[in-house]
Amino acid sequence: MPNHSATDSSKALQRLREEVLEANLELVRRGLVLYTFGNASGILRDEGLIVIKPSGVPYETMKPEHLVLTDLEGKVLEGDLRPSSDLPTHVALYKAFPQIGGIVHTHSEYATAWAQARREIPCFGTTHADYFHGPVPVTDAMRSDEVEGEYEKNTGASIVRRFRGLNSSAIPGVLVANHGPFTWGKDASAAAHNAVVLESIARMAFFTVTINSEASGIGKTLHDRHYLRKHGGKAYYGQEKDAK
Ligand SMILES: [Zn+2]
Repeated sequence: MPNHSATDSSKALQRLREEVLEANLELVRRGLVLYTFGNASGILRDEGLIVIKPSGVPYETMKPEHLVLTDLEGKVLEGDLRPSSDLPTHVALYKAFPQIGGIVHTHSEYATAWAQARREIPCFGTTHADYFHGPVPVTDAMRSDEVEGEYEKNTGASIVRRFRGLNSSAIPGVLVANHGPFTWGKDASAAAHNAVVLESIARMAFFTVTINSEASGIGKTLHDRHYLRKHGGKAYYGQEKDAK
């Protein structure tokens, strides 16, 4: 069957298109994006193919075939529409974090408010600890030459710089200073899920510091307990793998 692997990879690509469309629509359903803001992408690692939202197409009319297929350098391979202008940021993150399979960017209000305030989100409670093993970091403000140059690529570089010494698997998202959040995960759907959770913990953290400006973060023992019961070798939260 000489065409067997070609058929398999075109099926995988069709699945990726559907999954990335679904991740984009999830951002709308959860109130994370307005108009055409925001974008989700996914990657087939073996083939080195990225599927990303097209630029400026309304979510209501978006179909799997509207999504743009590119290579790992961000070169468009298929599709008449232009890719999201944030594609170079996605490319930089896929290159730097080889374990991730999907990326989401939004301007969701509470996470963006923290990004604009240029404050990391401290871990105040177990909801946060379940998903982020530490504060949600914020990047340094970008320099003028970075903004005037290859801005979107440099945005990716600023995130990668911020993650020196941090584990991008244990901290699946970041606040880009004066801009907004990027999240990632094993696939586009996990990245969208993390974007929704990040917005929720950003909102709760805002209320926490409003109620008590001196609120201290969650203790390390409780933080570790919550993170590690869901992640890593000793995880026991939820059902056994393969069970639905
Ligand atoms: Zn943006």
